[in-house]
Amino acid sequence: MSLLVRGIGELVTNDPALGVLHEAALVVSDGRIAWVGADAGAPAADEVLDVGGAAVLPGFVDSHTHLVFAGDRAAEFAARMAGQPYTGGGIRTTVAATRAADNDVLRARLAQLRREALRQGTTTLEVKSGYGLTVADEARLLRLAREVTPETTFLGAHVVPVEYADRPDDYVDLVCGEMLRAAAPYARWVDVFCERGVFDADQSRAVLKAGIGAGLRPRLHANQLGPGPGIQVAVEAGAASADHCTHLSTMDIEALAGSDTVATLLPGAEFSTRSPYPDARALLDAGATVALATDCNPGSSYTSSMPLCIALAVREMRMTPAEAVWAATAGGARALRRTDIGHLGVGARADLAILDAPSHVHLAYRPGVPLVSQVLHNGVPILSAASGRSGAESAVKRPESGEQ
Ligand SMILES: [Zn+2]
Repeated sequence: MSLLVRGIGELVTNDPALGVLHEAALVVSDGRIAWVGADAGAPAADEVLDVGGAAVLPGFVDSHTHLVFAGDRAAEFAARMAGQPYTGGGIRTTVAATRAADNDVLRARLAQLRREALRQGTTTLEVKSGYGLTVADEARLLRLAREVTPETTFLGAHVVPVEYADRPDDYVDLVCGEMLRAAAPYARWVDVFCERGVFDADQSRAVLKAGIGAGLRPRLHANQLGPGPGIQVAVEAGAASADHCTHLSTMDIEALAGSDTVATLLPGAEFSTRSPYPDARALLDAGATVALATDCNPGSSYTSSMPLCIALAVREMRMTPAEAVWAATAGGARALRRTDIGHLGVGARADLAILDAPSHVHLAYRPGVPLVSQVLHNGVPILSAASGRSGAESAVKRPESGEQ
């Protein structure tokens, strides 16, 4: 079964660079992009989706989320907006709620957030554990995450749980040993919250090393709350990504620019904690690869919206709309070391976000407006006509005989 998507006013392919085509079309076959080119020269297909001049871009790749949890922290958010500082300590509130929740409760919340993200154009999600912090709970959270994505990350080293508060090194030993053994079958990645007062450089190195030994690939929460060794630890370990990068020294920027480690920026966290934004401009100008992700979690960034992150990156972090859209698609794919997503070259997975707008620029130009009108995931349209743009324009049609 093949599908021709035509009438594309502006097609962002990310192949190469932003790869913008106008008056374009593409053909999807078996869930993959089979052809891309000018609308006028589009080949026939079994079905046709005419998007009526809309902009089409690769589905967003959200390479950093914490979606397996229970409870919410609205009261903590309100207190923070009333002037209390964010310290990361509230993670323990979510740990208590998550440990107490059964699988069906966690699964329902995860499914709801995944649907919410998909409706906003996110077709790939990374999901971390980190709200269990016991051997059984970390394995349980990763099993649940694995039900919705192959991009699962073991984050047993998210925070030292209260029961280990006076002996954090014993907790690191647990994470590197029994907990890792239980978690590794369900995880692709290993991650640590490397931050002053949470896990220091040596503890972070130990967890990453143990994870790599168990066949996982490293990524790191680095330099969110203050300057520190996180970026250097990430680059040394060959991490696919150093995430947050809010407080960077010149050496940190040089280290990222001179390495394959992607700088994943999470502006939803700065927005929701009323913190200074990372210096995206300095990273880009130095030649670092930048990704954007939501950090969706109930404490410091309870948004699943990649369009919001794009708008913040443009308005608050001096990224151009083109840089921000690339970072939210191809950048995320780089941060997950994936070549089949984040672009719309021939052979790529047919993950598309179709906008009710003529250009990708509108994602930043019209902040807060739900512009994603249709999403194709593995080539399959996932929004009904009623929830997308006007039905006639978004409905997939079978060509009448003779029309081809
Ligand atoms: Zn995070």
